[in-house]
Amino acid sequence: MKPHLLVVEDEDALAALLQYNLEKEGYRVTHAADGEDAILRMGEDAPDLVVLDWMLPKVSGIEVCRRLRGRAQTRNVPIIMLTARSEETDKVRGLDTGADDYLVKPFGMTELTARVRALLRRSRPGLTDDQLAHGDIVMDRVAHRVKRGGREVKLGPTEFKLLDYFLQHPGRVFSRERLLDAVWGPDVYIDLRTVDVHVGRLRKALNADSTVDAIRTVRSAGYALDLS
Ligand code: CA
Repeated sequence: MKPHLLVVEDEDALAALLQYNLEKEGYRVTHAADGEDAILRMGEDAPDLVVLDWMLPKVSGIEVCRRLRGRAQTRNVPIIMLTARSEETDKVRGLDTGADDYLVKPFGMTELTARVRALLRRSRPGLTDDQLAHGDIVMDRVAHRVKRGGREVKLGPTEFKLLDYFLQHPGRVFSRERLLDAVWGPDVYIDLRTVDVHVGRLRKALNADSTVDAIRTVRSAGYALDLS
């Protein structure tokens, strides 16, 4: 799954440039043109990282930052703040409010993508790795292969995405709603039982040559990949 970046920038030309360069780096990029829109989007489709302009119409970047930090689902999402040179004296305030990093305009795209990569790696180690592992399960994201205990596990595309998500947070219990959002996307309306079907297939494939169930079902809560 591609990491999801939300770019909050009201200057169209810069927003387009950011989007182009970040997509080229392999990220899924969504764009909000003002602070209000950004807050709405964060609730609907939680990003893995936010590139946030300081000066925004309606709700300022600093206020967006404050609100994101105040919500449980977005509290830990890394934020890179973009400021103009004249605003640089305020940067400390920006970091106090919860931004993880900042860039002073004008900045180079190489610098931005390097900062994004570093911040993602720090906050979500599993997100950008070529290989994920938990217990005796190993996923090679580049070759698109999965092995358990050294034996190849054949997975369909949906099961592969599900496992990828589980491997990013081993041991954590996810509701079916959460899995649906993460794997199928927030705009897809399918029956929650579809999630059960695919988790069932994933479980069957993973457990084919093993006596230890890799997936834990938590009644009325959801599922977890758990081999600890
Ligand atoms: Ca601006």
